[in-house]
Amino acid sequence: MSALANRSPLDFSPLAEVEETPLAEVGALIARARDAQWVWSQTPLAERLEVLHRVKDRILDRGDELATLLRAESGKPAAETWTAEVLPNADLVEHWVDNIESMMAVEEVVLDAMAYPGKSGAIHSAARGVIALITPWNFPVAIPLRTIVPALLAGNAVVFKPSEFTPRAGAFVASLFQGLLPEGVLTLLQGGAPMGDALVRSDVDLVVFTGSVPTGRKIAATAAEHLTPVSLELGGKDAAIVLDDADLDRTARGLVWGAFNNAGQNCASIERVYVDHRVARPLIERMVELAQTLKIGEDVGPLTTEAQLETVRRHVASAEAAGALLLCGGRPTGRGLGFEPTILEVPKDREAMPVMEEETFGPVLPVVIVDDEDEAVRRANASRFGLTASIWTKKTERGERIAHRLRAGVVTVNNHGFTAALPSAPWSGVGESGYGITNSRHALRELTRPRFVLVDKSRSKSELWWMPYTTSLVTVARAMATMRSSARTFREKLRAFWTILVNGPKRLLGR
Ligand code: NAD
Repeated sequence: MSALANRSPLDFSPLAEVEETPLAEVGALIARARDAQWVWSQTPLAERLEVLHRVKDRILDRGDELATLLRAESGKPAAETWTAEVLPNADLVEHWVDNIESMMAVEEVVLDAMAYPGKSGAIHSAARGVIALITPWNFPVAIPLRTIVPALLAGNAVVFKPSEFTPRAGAFVASLFQGLLPEGVLTLLQGGAPMGDALVRSDVDLVVFTGSVPTGRKIAATAAEHLTPVSLELGGKDAAIVLDDADLDRTARGLVWGAFNNAGQNCASIERVYVDHRVARPLIERMVELAQTLKIGEDVGPLTTEAQLETVRRHVASAEAAGALLLCGGRPTGRGLGFEPTILEVPKDREAMPVMEEETFGPVLPVVIVDDEDEAVRRANASRFGLTASIWTKKTERGERIAHRLRAGVVTVNNHGFTAALPSAPWSGVGESGYGITNSRHALRELTRPRFVLVDKSRSKSELWWMPYTTSLVTVARAMATMRSSARTFREKLRAFWTILVNGPKRLLGR
């Protein structure tokens, strides 16, 4: 049996090996999940709530253990584990436990009694079935839980494949549910791309994927062959717009956090700043000062993978070669996979460089000085990505107005990116950032399907529109059209009503 043998990005020390799930077992595990899902979906919601509720305290009680695990496996500073992977996840469980009942409440559909006598309809939220969940390494606990918790509450089974770079965090996620769920309701598959691919090809009802654009494209294509619906949360190239009236102290701190948290390995990292020329110099000065005070390792962890370090190096080197000014950082720290927090000033006629166009996913912040708000909005929107964006201004109404001009799934005024931690706020993107939605009732729509149930209590032996098709059917249909038309007079409608009264009963007898 093969194993995932990762090294810590902090110092390259070997981590405990994690056994890969044999590819040959995937089919049987999915079949088991399908059987388990049927039983789980028939379990009363109150019981599912009882089970899931217990996960909240498990998360809170195991915060230190998780901080140690993530520090070693991904290099994440403990503060970031507590603020991004522990507290928001406890809130997440509470939110779904408190709200799912009302979100899944049956919705009555009002039917016209004259057109549809004796009939009543209702929309129920039905579980999708077996959900394949494939996740990245950057928030290896929070991202899976955002789907697992509402998916299980809604009556689905989940087959979860964490990233091969953070399999221990994946096992931690699964262990939060240990002993609480019937066997097969939550299945953990350990492995890399071949395992993810096998999962997408298997008999699942929905694929929920968070990761890079190239993988998202492959998954969408494979899933299309099987007509399996897919939810895709992909990369970002978030822009921050700093207006001439911004509070520069708060803005500088916010931008530095927005760009360098999780060592920039955040789909919603600030990867482009467009600052009004009237405040550009003092803002840049403050940002550089702040970036230089950040403690390597404590405030800014290392990159998690070697490939990521390579991308960061390439983006910084090509930016410098193309005329960007290196204001601070720019080199590996020399400790593990660390890279210094880096700020670049990019002349606006040189934006055609990877650091401005591709996702960097590292601690690199390019700044472009612009003439005004309109230019900032135009440049911010000129990206294939559109995950989140922020506007920094003391005039919050001005910020809100600009928010509606930005091509992004989430826009924040005087803050950035943190709303992924709000379970009631939808998280989604446009363009190459993908069309998936996590958090909020909008996410639940992806994890369930509407089932419309119509009950007919009519005692009539036939329906108006059933066979045989007679001339009286056409007569009644014409009269109905007259009744519905806003162009017809009251007299015409009265005549039509009479026609329906005379011919309708004949039709119900099939004449
Ligand atoms: P990745 O695409 O390399 O891998 C993501 C997952 O897909 C992993 O579990 C991997 O094993 C699996 N995988 C790889 N090839 C596959 C295939 N052919 N079929 C099925 N599964 C396959 O991404 P990554 O490097 O782990 O994560 C970083 C990316 O994730 C960045 O682009 C980042 O922006 C994005 N991300 C997006 C969001 C969001 O909410 N939009 C959140 C976090 C991360």
